[in-house]
Amino acid sequence: MIFFDLDETLLDTSGCRPPAVEASFRVAAQKYPNLSLESWRRASEEVKAEMHDLWLNSPNSGAELLREGSYRILKKLGIDDSELATDVSQAYYRTWVSHLKLFPDARAVLEALRGRFRLGMISNGPSDVQRYKLKLFDLEREFDPIVISGEIGVAKPDPAIFRRAVELARVLPSEALYVGDSPMYDITGAKSIGMKMIWVNRNSLPTENLEIKPDGVVRDLREILKITVLQRV
Ligand SMILES: [Mg+2]
Repeated sequence: MIFFDLDETLLDTSGCRPPAVEASFRVAAQKYPNLSLESWRRASEEVKAEMHDLWLNSPNSGAELLREGSYRILKKLGIDDSELATDVSQAYYRTWVSHLKLFPDARAVLEALRGRFRLGMISNGPSDVQRYKLKLFDLEREFDPIVISGEIGVAKPDPAIFRRAVELARVLPSEALYVGDSPMYDITGAKSIGMKMIWVNRNSLPTENLEIKPDGVVRDLREILKITVLQRV
């Protein structure tokens, strides 16, 4: 049984935020022309940091969280306008998803694994946002189970989300492999319950500094097809 992470493992979200922040600024600046892009960016970063944990664990929808975030950004800039916050958050989200990309190696590796292994997903984020991304790239049918932190109220690296996933799949942790990009969320979490783990290290970060070692490291997802740990899951 192979479980995948979604963001930055299969989906490239790296180009999403800068244009989304700018698009949301333009909507706000139509109503409040004195706003500056620089202070908007700064306030956006502050709010993003403030809401980081909520984004992972909250039962609220991504749409609600983005609206709350936009409200807070405006508030930091001296504007109390919940109606505008809705418009701002919609512009942000629309632009954000329009810049999402599937990594070029993702489709190929899923096709190669399909039929040979059961595939599941463990992903952090609000239900509506994560489900929308899966639908956008027609990925929902590839994975069963799909375990999303916003749907169960517990996020990676908490061992509970990994345990939930193997229980739903009716496999032992030792019979499951996790493939993910984040040392903090993915390696730590998966190894904490005894799953095998392949680290997707697309940016060639040094492996010596890892506190917990994965069972394999790849730069390109297609390399996982050659890793021997696959023979044992
Ligand atoms: Mg990730």
